[in-house]
Amino acid sequence: MGLLIHDATLVSAGQVIPRGYVLIQGTQIATVGAGSPSDDARAAAREVLDAAGKVILPGLVNAHTHLEQTFMRGYSAGRPLLDWLKGCIWKLQAAMDVEDVRLATTLGLVEAIRGGATTVIDHHKVPLSRRHTDVVLEAAQALGARLVLARAWADRGTYAEAPADILADLERLFAEWHGAAEGRIQIANGPLVPWRCSAEMLQRTSALARRYGALTHCHVSETQAEVAMTLEETGLRPVLWLDRLGVLGADFQLVHGVWLSDEEIARIAERGAAVVHCPAANMILGSGVAPIPHLLAAGVELLLGSDGPASNDGQDMFETMRLATYLQRAVMHDASLLPPQTVLAMASSASLAAGEKADIVLLDFDAAHIQPVGNVLASIVYNVRGSDVDTVIIDGRLIMRHKRMVGLDEMGLIAECRARAAHLARRAGVAQLHLP
Ligand SMILES: [Zn+2]
Repeated sequence: MGLLIHDATLVSAGQVIPRGYVLIQGTQIATVGAGSPSDDARAAAREVLDAAGKVILPGLVNAHTHLEQTFMRGYSAGRPLLDWLKGCIWKLQAAMDVEDVRLATTLGLVEAIRGGATTVIDHHKVPLSRRHTDVVLEAAQALGARLVLARAWADRGTYAEAPADILADLERLFAEWHGAAEGRIQIANGPLVPWRCSAEMLQRTSALARRYGALTHCHVSETQAEVAMTLEETGLRPVLWLDRLGVLGADFQLVHGVWLSDEEIARIAERGAAVVHCPAANMILGSGVAPIPHLLAAGVELLLGSDGPASNDGQDMFETMRLATYLQRAVMHDASLLPPQTVLAMASSASLAAGEKADIVLLDFDAAHIQPVGNVLASIVYNVRGSDVDTVIIDGRLIMRHKRMVGLDEMGLIAECRARAAHLARRAGVAQLHLP
C-alpha cells in the first residue's frame, strides 16, 4: 500500500503542473497525475499527505562534498586552497577518530537532506582505517540516505598511502558495500587530485572501478597552481594527461574544472565525462570561475556540488543553484545565462514519472520571501532556501516530515557534534576561533 501526496504543484524536467498528485508504492513512484487523485490512486494509498501550498520536485543531487568537514566549518577565511589544506584541513582530517567521522557524517547528511539533496556524493578524505570509512556508510544507512562514497586516496605527497593498501581497501569496499542498502549505497574510486596520484595507480584504480561498473570521482584543475604542477611534471594539462592514461571516460567525474582549455573541454565532451561545478567553494577560496557556458555549449554533462562544509560553508543545494547562476551572469555580463530550467537540470536529472525512484522533496511555498509567485521555476532557484524544504522522501521512505527528521534526536546530535568538534580542534593543534 502506498503514500499519496495530493494538491501540490508538480515540477519535473522543466515542466510545471499547477495542481497534481503523486502516488508512491514501495521504493518507486507509481502514478503521477494532474488535478485530483484518481479513485485508483486513493484506493492504493495507506497514507495520505495533503500538500496544498507545496511544490514537489525530484530530489536534488549534491554531487560533491566532504561530509567529515562538517566539523571544519569556518576555517577557510582568507586562505587560498593550498595554504588552507596544508595549514589546517589536512591536520584536522588526520586527527579525526572513528566517532568524529560518524557524527560529522550524520550531521552533514542531515544538513544535506534539509538542503534538498536526496543523493549525496561524499568524497571521503579520511580513510584512516576501515572503520573510519565504514562508519560513513553505516551513518547513511541509519538515516536512510542515498550515498555514493568516493573513497579518496593519494599515493604521493603528505599523508600518502601505500598503493597496495589503497587497492585492497577499494576492492573490499566494492565487494562489501557497492549496491548495499537496496542500492542506496554506492562506492566510487576517488583519486584526490591528479598531482598527488601516480599514473600507475590512476590506471589501476580506474580499471578496478570499471570492473564493478563504478564511477571515478576526482578534483581536477581547481586552481591555476595545480594546472601548472601537472603541466610541468607531465608536459600536459591535467585533463589531457588523464586522457592519455585512459581513465577519462563516461564513468569519470571531474570536480571543479575551473581552469580548462578549449582543447580540454572538447576532450571532456568527446569522452562523455561529467563536470561537477561547485560555485560556492570556487568563490570562497578565490579559485576562479568555471567555464560553465562553454561546457554546456560543448554538450558536457554538468552536475552541482556544495563541496565540503569547510570550503562552502554550507550544503544548501538551493543556494548552490543560485550562486551558480549569479556567478556566470556577473562575470560573463550576460543575464540570459543559466536559466532556471538549466540550473535545475544540473541539480537533478530525475523526473516525476511512474517507475522512477521515489526520491522527492516537498517545498513549503507559503513564505514571505517566496510569495506571490510569478514563475515557479524561477522561485525555486531564486527564492527558495534550504529551510523551505518541508518533507523529504528517499526510496519511498519519509526521511523528513514537516521539517522534522523522522526518528532522529537532531538537537542531541548537534550538541554532541559541537563538543566533539571543539575537542578535535584542540587535538589537531588548530585554533578554533570565535567559539559561541
Ligand atoms: Zn572537494
